[in-house]
Amino acid sequence: MLKLNDIKRLAREVGFDLCGVAQCRDLERDRAFLEGWLERGFGGSLDYLKKNIAVRADATSLVEGAKTVIVCALAYKNEISNGYSCKSRGKVASYALTTDYHRTIKDMLFELCRRLKAHDDSFAARCFVDSAPIFEKRYAVEAGLGWIGRQSLLITPDYGSFVLLGEVVTSAECDSYDTPLDTVGCGECRRCVEACPNGAIKERHIDTTRCISCATIERRGEGEQCPLHGWIFGCDECQSVCPYNRKAPCATSPQVIPIFNPIEMTAEEWLSLSDEEFASRFGSTPMQRAGLERLKENLERSK
Ligand code: SF4
Ligand code: SF4
Repeated sequence: MLKLNDIKRLAREVGFDLCGVAQCRDLERDRAFLEGWLERGFGGSLDYLKKNIAVRADATSLVEGAKTVIVCALAYKNEISNGYSCKSRGKVASYALTTDYHRTIKDMLFELCRRLKAHDDSFAARCFVDSAPIFEKRYAVEAGLGWIGRQSLLITPDYGSFVLLGEVVTSAECDSYDTPLDTVGCGECRRCVEACPNGAIKERHIDTTRCISCATIERRGEGEQCPLHGWIFGCDECQSVCPYNRKAPCATSPQVIPIFNPIEMTAEEWLSLSDEEFASRFGSTPMQRAGLERLKENLERSK
């Protein structure tokens, strides 16, 4: 049997800023919401969202007999997270200024599991960082980490939405579980809705056909292109204005220290980068997922 206090202590030792533990349950309401959202066309051409919807709602389809989801968060706010003060054609979301979180968080989760196994040799689990269909934000809420904000991201009281999430799913039971926060959440605030340059934020969900983050990273093809407003990878506009993010401290964890500053890059520098230079300077960042050609296309579109 896992112990809640041990999990949280070990997660802290591994370097996570937040950790909560939720009981696995059927997330039927979230499944129904996702289906309705897709039916209304808000997913656009993001076809991967249409796959494995039932799996998302049922953690036992990822781990046989799953009982427990450990949700860990690493805060990553940096100076760029507050927004770009100058007009720029090469804006990059602040989470992408550092080593790709898929790698960082996965390594940290593996280390957490290794330490849990040292406590109990029978411990077995799977770790996920965007690598499986799982309603991770819902589990983060269930685990008491925060609430879903109006812009559909997880908001944590201390670090806002500038957190990177990862999950450990196990069939082991825990001696007790966290519960959702008792909070007013966003209250009357609508700053993110008002700040979105494309009006993509609906009431607690996003129209991805209007979202710059999707347009610069995931979406391809004609017919669904929205204005990019100077962004070439991701978009932080709705997060920079959030009062919870404004008061969040800049992260000090070595895993999330920025390795470049987009303000120091001109459009001409981006456009003249060779594949080799891109790989050597940005190959470890999340931008390598989009690739240099895509970034240059985005730059041309963001004129
Ligand atoms: S990421 Fe940008 S485009 Fe997408 S909802 Fe937020 S502000 Fe709007
Ligand atoms: S900006 Fe306001 S409404 Fe939007 S997520 Fe933050 S607190 Fe909620």
